[in-house]
Amino acid sequence: MKKGKIFSGMRPTGRLHIGHLSVLENWVRLQEEYDCVFGVVDWHALTTSFEDVQSLQQRIREIALDWLSAGLDPEKCDIMVQSQVKEHAELHLLFSMMTPVSWLERCPTYKDQIQQFGLQGKEINMYGFLGYPLLMSADILLYLATHVPVGQDQIPHVEISREVARRFNFMYQKEVFPEPQVLLSEVPLLPGVDNRKMSKSYGNDISLTASPEEIKEKVRLMITDPGRVRKTDLGNPDVCVVHTYHKIYNDVEVEGIASDCRKADIGCVACKQRLAAKLEAVLGPIRERRDQLLAKPGIVDEVLAEGSRKARARASETMSLVREAMGVKG
Ligand code: SF4
Repeated sequence: MKKGKIFSGMRPTGRLHIGHLSVLENWVRLQEEYDCVFGVVDWHALTTSFEDVQSLQQRIREIALDWLSAGLDPEKCDIMVQSQVKEHAELHLLFSMMTPVSWLERCPTYKDQIQQFGLQGKEINMYGFLGYPLLMSADILLYLATHVPVGQDQIPHVEISREVARRFNFMYQKEVFPEPQVLLSEVPLLPGVDNRKMSKSYGNDISLTASPEEIKEKVRLMITDPGRVRKTDLGNPDVCVVHTYHKIYNDVEVEGIASDCRKADIGCVACKQRLAAKLEAVLGPIRERRDQLLAKPGIVDEVLAEGSRKARARASETMSLVREAMGVKG
């Protein structure tokens, strides 16, 4: 007996990195307990990157391959592509008729992002960008999701989908949509190797499918305690990127390493070697699964086509209820 229904998605921004792993590990757990639909939300990618479409299909395949490599199982969840289920667009359109613009404008990420992208010289003051929390609500509600796994910063988006569900049910006097609950996930924020935000564009990420050599090289580049110049200097692990990673991936040794660092009983080279070994233990199996999947050409397209087909069947049932409530024909 499943605990409820879940929809969650990611934009196809390219190959994933280790910073995405905790979200994926959470999804892998949730697929056992909930009836899950996981979507590659390609229309969302267009809200901020509408000019960058050359590699979109490639990026969709890459992200799906990473999901499968990390342990998502198409026998246990539906893995779909948003644009292959046109009902997302229809529900978004119908919701847009009954959603006050002020709900979207007050979304905390909206003004922040407009400003952030503006500073980068990028124009995203577009109709689609304003409406993206509503498209997100359509994504969630289309599958009658009862739960949405999110980090703290995304709670306002789930709140909009709850408000939209409430308004729809009240306005059309039909209990079509459940109000989805937040399933708060602890997602530790991993810095890039240079202690900035981890991003492929900065080159400071560790790819989910990095080779053992790439892992060693990225760990070698990690910023350590800048006050520890010589091995005999006492260290401060609290300001060291390597230590941040040990805390997440090496819970058995982390306390001992921190204590040894403070007493200068361990050098940074040895400390990094231990971390690289731990990261390889986590990423090695993901890389192996990816290699196995790559040996089966067409497998990712098949998974996405089948997942989208199942998602369309679910979406079609919901849209019948929505159209009937709103008095429109399909
Ligand atoms: Fe960082 Fe480890 Fe060096 Fe201490 S010993 S400064 S925790 S890399």
